[in-house]
Amino acid sequence: MLTTLIYRSDLHHDLSADSLKKLIERARSNNESVSVTGILLFDGRTFFQILEGPRESVNATYHRICRDDRHNNFTLLLRDYAPQRRFGLTGMEIFDLRNADRADVFSAILPQRSFTSSQTYEDRPIRFLRSFLEDKNRSSYVRVAPVSKDDFYQQAIPLHDERNICPASRRWTFAFQPIVDTVEKKVIAFEALIRSPSGGSPQDLFSSMAKDELYEVDLLSKESAFIRAKQIGLVNRKVSVNLLPGSLVSLPDGVDRLLALVAAAGLVPEQVVVEVTEDEIISNFTEFQVAIDKLKAAGISLAIDDFGAGFAGLSLLSQFQPDKLKIDRKIITGIHRSGARQAIVQAILNCCASLEITVIVEGVEQVEEWAWLQAAGARYFQGFLFARPALSGEMIVHWPG
Ligand code: C2E
Ligand code: MN
Ligand code: MN
Repeated sequence: MLTTLIYRSDLHHDLSADSLKKLIERARSNNESVSVTGILLFDGRTFFQILEGPRESVNATYHRICRDDRHNNFTLLLRDYAPQRRFGLTGMEIFDLRNADRADVFSAILPQRSFTSSQTYEDRPIRFLRSFLEDKNRSSYVRVAPVSKDDFYQQAIPLHDERNICPASRRWTFAFQPIVDTVEKKVIAFEALIRSPSGGSPQDLFSSMAKDELYEVDLLSKESAFIRAKQIGLVNRKVSVNLLPGSLVSLPDGVDRLLALVAAAGLVPEQVVVEVTEDEIISNFTEFQVAIDKLKAAGISLAIDDFGAGFAGLSLLSQFQPDKLKIDRKIITGIHRSGARQAIVQAILNCCASLEITVIVEGVEQVEEWAWLQAAGARYFQGFLFARPALSGEMIVHWPG
C-alpha cells in the first residue's frame, strides 16, 4: 500500500554541514533501493521530511530515523495512504529554504500544481507541505532541550498505615499518589486510590460487588481515605478521591454523608477534590448536576477524570466546567513524538486557560513526555515518572533537578 509519512525535527547543534551532506547521500541511496521518495525541507532550524513509498519500506525507514538521536524534537505529523504517488521520483531531495523562492520550491516538488492557488484536490500531505513553506503554525512548535532522568532527585513523604483507622476499612485500603507542581517543586495534592485488602486493583475489589454494595463501599471507604490524608499532612495541599456519581446520587443523603466524613476526619471541604470520569458524568448528567451543585456549595472542588478517554469530551466541557481537568494517559503516552497528541493537548491547555480550569496531566511515565508538556505550558502532573502510588511506608517523589 502506498504510504505517505511526514515528520519534522530540529537540527542537532553539533551536526556539521559536511556530516549533513553525508547523511543525505546515504538516505538517497537507501530510499532508492526501497523505492521511497524523500523530500526534505530545511529552514535553518527545522527539517520537514516527506517519505512516500511502499508501506513496509516507509515504516522501516521511519523506525531507523526514530532510533537516530541526531534528530531533536522529532515529531510525526502524518501517516496517510493514497492511490498514487504525489511526490515524484524515488531518492532524496533537499531544499534549503533560506536562499530559495518558496514558490519555486513548491513547483519543483509538485510541478503540476500552483503555489498561488490551492486546488480542490489538495489533500493533507500537500496542505502540510504548503503550510511549512508558508511558515504557518510555527508558533505551535514546542522546542525542548534534552533531559535525563539522571538529573532527578528524591524526596520521601511518610505514609501512615491503614490498620486500626476505622473498623470498616479492613475490607479495603488506599494507595496514595502525589500530584506535583514541577514549577514550584511542590506536591499539590494526593490522590487516594482504592485497593483490595491484599493490594489488588479497584477493578479487583469492585468487580464482585452488586451495584448497591459498590456505591455503599465507594462512599464509606472515603472515611479512611480522608483520615489518612489528614495524617500525611494537608497544609496547602488537597486530597483527591474518586467517586462514582451513583455513590452520591443513588444513596439517600450521599452528599451529606460525604461531607460528614470530611468533617469527621478533621478536614475542611476546600481541601477535598472529587474526581469523576467524563463518561460517568454524561450518563447521569441531570441527576448528578444536583449533587455537583451541592458539593460546590459546600466548598468541595470537582475534577473531570480521564479527559479524552471517553465519549463526552468537548460537549461535556461546554455544558459544565469543573475546577480541574485531568488529561488521560492515552493522549499523553509518547506525546513528545506525536504531532496529533501535541495539537490536541495544546488545544486542551488553551481552552482550560481561557476557562480558568486547572489542568493535571496524568500517566506521565517518560522524562521526554514531561519535558515536552512542561515546555508547552503544563504545570501539574501525576505519573510514575514522579511517584508511584504507595500503600504504606513512604511515598517517594522524584523531582527534576
Ligand atoms: P484514575 O482515577 O485515573 O487513577 C489513576 C490510575 O492510573 C491509577 O490506577 C494509578 O495507579 C494509575 N497511574 C498513575 N500514574 C500512572 C502512570 O504513570 N502510568 C500508568 N500506567 N498508570 C498510572 P488504579 O489505582 O488502578 O485505579 C484505576 C481507576 O480506578 C482509577 O483511575 C479510578 O477511576 C478508579 N478508582 C480508584 N479508586 C477509586 C475509588 O475509591 N472509587 C471509585 N469509584 N473508583 C476508584
Ligand atoms: Mn482519579
Ligand atoms: Mn485518571
